[in-house]
This record gives sequence, structure tokens and C-alpha cells, in this order.
Amino acid sequence: MPVLVMKFGGTSVANLDRIRRAAKRVGVEVAKGYDVIVIVSAMAGKTNELVGWVNETSPLFDAREYDAVVSSGENVTAGLMALTLQEMDVPARSWQGWQVPLRTTSAHSAARIEEIPTDNINAKFGEGMRVAVVAGFQGISPEGRITTLGRGGSDTTAVAFAAAFDAERCDIYTDVDGVYTTDPRIASKARKLDKIAFEEMLELASLGAKVLQTRSVELAMRYNVKLRVVSSFEEQSDDAGTLVCSEEEIMESNIVSGIAYSRDEAKMTLISVADRPGIAAAIFGPLSEAGVNVDMIIQNISEEGRTDMTFSCPVEQVTRAEKALQEAAERGEINYHDLVADTNVAKVSAVGIGMRSQSGVAAQMFKTLSDEGVNIKVIATSEIKISVLIDRKYMELAVQALHDAFELDKVA
Ligand code: ADP
Ligand code: ASP
Ligand code: MG
Repeated sequence: MPVLVMKFGGTSVANLDRIRRAAKRVGVEVAKGYDVIVIVSAMAGKTNELVGWVNETSPLFDAREYDAVVSSGENVTAGLMALTLQEMDVPARSWQGWQVPLRTTSAHSAARIEEIPTDNINAKFGEGMRVAVVAGFQGISPEGRITTLGRGGSDTTAVAFAAAFDAERCDIYTDVDGVYTTDPRIASKARKLDKIAFEEMLELASLGAKVLQTRSVELAMRYNVKLRVVSSFEEQSDDAGTLVCSEEEIMESNIVSGIAYSRDEAKMTLISVADRPGIAAAIFGPLSEAGVNVDMIIQNISEEGRTDMTFSCPVEQVTRAEKALQEAAERGEINYHDLVADTNVAKVSAVGIGMRSQSGVAAQMFKTLSDEGVNIKVIATSEIKISVLIDRKYMELAVQALHDAFELDKVA
């Protein structure tokens, strides 16, 4: 029988009523003749609570134990979803990641999926089971420890299962009815897209649009998974929501297709570091070893052999970054006068494939921000995106102003 993957995010399984509602949606697909693999997230807010408990217990925690704790939310919803389906007379059972086993690397809290054997679940489908409910976000390392795939990782579990089982489609059920030109919770004029290209979705996701985890889009692109984002709160037709697909399948083409933001960024500046060959490696090597995700980097023009180095990273990694740099300085690998952290910044980005062939987007973006009196602290560009770091208090204003300036509420 054809296989369908259906993933339900936290708000879609936030309580027993919502789990029942999601199970009914699954029942509809089973009745159409699909064998269904359901991937569930933890109940809304649960993972945040678990992360909070870990941080309170041990600020520079052992990542293996972090994973043991934060993966547990999904176990509860997987079991409850299987029970709910059984109550509806749909033959179903649950799997935790290690039972599949969903094999990952040992990069705890940010593990990558290496293998999903299909025999175990397929054997059960062969025996008449119609729904395999799998706990999202989690797997098992080569050392036999529980791993997690990074925040939002259930999306990636879903796409990886769709690829492994050659599913007809991977439907991501969430609390919005598709991918919008920007977060509809921030800009009321945000417009739902019927289709979005993999490359654009990849950029939007990596720049903060959390509707899909970045890695899930990468996998969908690589394995050509038919990926759809739909609402779990509205009745669905087969063409509802947003289809993430290849560029060739899209007719509409705004130069800028979306605005993304990332609220909790920090800007760190090392003041007066010796400017010599190898200095960037001496700074960013220890940061990488400490697990700090450095994003934008600027090195100023050097004066008398000394320079300032600025970089951005997620705000929750500032303590880790400071510790790594202080230790490198104590070991004599780097030497700086001061380390200044600005923890009140956010990143706002414009994304669009059309930028490859059209100039002027950067100029318009800077002018729009300037007209709103927003000061730009750091700029980064690539082929299809422009990002700026600004004061966090202007973030929503900047997103709305840019959405207006690029007329994203209108179809080109
Ligand atoms: P889930 O719990 O279902 O995985 P998430 O909270 O991870 O849901 O992702 C859905 C949220 O993503 C939406 O509620 C919305 O606020 C946010 N979001 C950010 N950017 C976008 C966008 N461009 N389109 C749609 N939603 C977006
Ligand atoms: N529950 C995890 C999180 O909140 C994974 C997910 O929902 O995708 O990050
Ligand atoms: Mg999510």
C-alpha cells in the first residue's frame, strides 16, 4: 500500500482533544488506503520546559544528559497518539527513535540522521498494522546513547522517514495554514504562498523562519520528497497549504519572496586583537569546539598590527563563547584588550531567488531601514539573501517595513 508521512507539531498535539483531532485526520488517510507513518512532537511548551530544567540544574550541561531529558516529551505524545488511534479501531503502535532504530551521529543536541532501517516497521505493516507512530526529534548514537536533532527536529524526522519509506507525500501539520511571505504572527499583511522553491525555503528556515527545520528542507531537496505544510486546525483538501518544490514548478516570481527574522542573536566584539596570520583560526577554532554557532563575522581594518573582530551567535551561547575565548587567551593562543557582548540584537533577512539576476535589493533594504530610523550594525549577503543585525526592539518594525517595501502582500 502507498505510504504517507504525517507530522504533527507541538500545538497540534497540545492536549488530549487535539491529539484526538489529529488522530481523526490520520484516520481519514487510512480510510483512503494509505499506510501512515505519524511523526509527533512533544506537547506545546513541553520541550521548552525540559530545556529550562536542564539549564537550571547544570548551566554548562553534559549534552548526552540534555538529550536524555529533552527527548522525553515526544515519548509521551507517541504513546498517547497510538492509544487514541487504537480507541478509534485503527491498528497502530508507537516507536521511540532507538526502537526503529533511527541511527544518528553522536553530535548530541544537534545530531544528524545516518540511517533509518525500514524492515521493522514494514513487517508490522505486513501484519495489518496501519499506522506507525514515531516519536520525532530523537535517535540513537553509535555509542548507544539517545540523541536529539536540534530544536524543531521532528520536521527532519518526518522528511527522513518519507525518504526512507518512499512515501507519496510528507505532510507537516502545524498551527499556520502554510508558508507565508513572513511570519503571519508579526506581519498581518503576510501572504500565504501556494508553492515555494526548496532553495528559498532553505534560506528562510536557516535565517529563522521556524515553520520548517532547515535540515528537513535539505533532506527533502536531496531526496525529492513531496513536502507540504498544512494547518491541523482546518479541514484539508489535497491541494491545501504550501508545497515546497523545485524552482521549475513555480510560475510566480517576486524578486524577494520572503522576510525572515531571528530574535535572539548576540553580537560579540573582540577589541584589539593582534592581526597576524592564523588569528581567525585561533579565535573561531575554540568557539567551534565549544559548540558555538558563529554566524556573521567582520574583521575591521587593522591599525598598527591590531584589529577588532566582531561576530554574531545565538544569545544563549554567549556564556559558552566568553568561556572559550577566555580559555584560549589563558593558553596564550589569542590576546585581546576587551570582549564586548551586545545581547540585544536581532537578525532580519530578505530572501529571494530573483536576487540572482536583479540588483538593487540591498540598496532598497538599507533605504527602508534608514527611513524607519533603524541603525544597521552588521550586514551579510549571499546569492539569494541579505541579512542585517539591528537592535531587537526594532525587529518587528523592520520586518513589517521591509514586507511593505518589497510589496510582498501582492503577487508579482
Ligand atoms: P510546530 O510546533 O507545528 O512545529 P513551529 O512553531 O515550529 O510549529 O512553526 C510554526 C510557526 O512558524 C508559526 O506559528 C509561525 O509563527 C512561524 N513562522 C515563522 N515564519 C513563518 C513563515 N514564513 N510562514 C509561516 N509560519 C512562520
Ligand atoms: N519538540 C522539539 C522542539 O520543540 C522538536 C519539534 O517539535 O520539532 O524543538
Ligand atoms: Mg516546529
